[in-house]
Amino acid sequence: MSKFSPVALVPQYLQAFQCIGPACPETCCSGWRVTIDKATYKKMQAIREEPLRQRVVAHLVREEAQDPAAWAHLQMQANGDCGFLDADRLCSIQKQLGAGALSDTCNHYPRHFQQVDGEHRVHATLSCPEAARLALTDPQAMRASPVTLDAFANAGELPPLITWNDSAAAPKVSHLGGRVLHDLLIHLIQSPEHDTFDALALALMLVRRVNAHLQELASRPADAVGTREQRLQALSELFSRFMDAQHNAALLDVVRGLDTGERLAPDLLRSVSQMIWQRRLTRSARDMLQDVVAGLKLDDPDPQVARDIWDRTRLARWPDWEARHGHLLRNYLVNSLELALPARHFGTPQALEDACLDLLIRAALIRYWAIGQMALHGDAFGETHAVRTVYALSRSIEHDRRFMAGVLQALEQQGIRSLATGLVLIR
Ligand code: SF4
Repeated sequence: MSKFSPVALVPQYLQAFQCIGPACPETCCSGWRVTIDKATYKKMQAIREEPLRQRVVAHLVREEAQDPAAWAHLQMQANGDCGFLDADRLCSIQKQLGAGALSDTCNHYPRHFQQVDGEHRVHATLSCPEAARLALTDPQAMRASPVTLDAFANAGELPPLITWNDSAAAPKVSHLGGRVLHDLLIHLIQSPEHDTFDALALALMLVRRVNAHLQELASRPADAVGTREQRLQALSELFSRFMDAQHNAALLDVVRGLDTGERLAPDLLRSVSQMIWQRRLTRSARDMLQDVVAGLKLDDPDPQVARDIWDRTRLARWPDWEARHGHLLRNYLVNSLELALPARHFGTPQALEDACLDLLIRAALIRYWAIGQMALHGDAFGETHAVRTVYALSRSIEHDRRFMAGVLQALEQQGIRSLATGLVLIR
């Protein structure tokens, strides 16, 4: 019988990835809640070997809900480390019982498996410092090629997949539209014709047009929305406009002429940074944010001081940095889009808009924090700082959906939860 050997599209950076273990500035588990599925919970409950048994009693906490995928969680120590971490910063379960005893979350971290219309894809969360370094420092890192996943003996061993299929008897327009939108957003961000923030502005306007189109469709009576083919045709005409360089150049001219309010971006990014500062952060995230506070003088009672430093440094240092290291932010954005296909957000305009705003806020924060560190370190600011910025951001907020939902809610309360706000943030 032939061995089970699915083939997956895997980007170059992940093909080169190897955990650096004790040399890692983080651990896989520090700083967040690790969810344990029901099968792993049972395996852990059956552990009799000491001192593991005592750690299971102390750190494995059963959830009240009956969701088999989130049956329990690991109670972290006061310093944010997992309770199973040994003094050498290695996992005691893996050392004593082998990788097979780990939960799916721990075993496969930082990998993230998806199946899109039958095709396997694997990417990594850039909360892992080594994955972030490999993904962000090589311009070609996001190029994907087929790789045989030989670590799995059968389909049952594959980690739980996020699956997007359009193979049902009555395929949904939303899924196909979402996939095309996803590919087009990646195309815009990777295009050498624009810098990253111009590409994001175009992506934002594309999403606005798609939203307007979806809302218009939703307002029509059911018998007036057209056939599936007609709806797909309308969407593809809309999409094809954003493949036209002249159309895009004209849109960017309009964006550059907009008065976007000079204060809103630094003030908003400062208040989101303060929300993040209140969270339980890992040491590298705290170190990085301390540099930002020092660089922008965020502890000065006069907010104008921080605005002026941000503005000066953004004009004096950012353009040259982006010209030399533009692939860093591009690769982060492409990887984020690959991890969270907008197909799943395509059902409602609000969900699509929120997914877009989430991405824009993260891109704007990375630039804001990088500029804060440039203000502090001057010419010594380098790729290591930039990579730390990304994994610190990813580790602080990306694994907690509630955080960005809270930011969007705060924008709502201020009456500025809109794609226009995204445009302000990235200008
Ligand atoms: S975060 Fe990444 S490099 Fe660090 S220990 Fe975990 S897998 Fe290894």
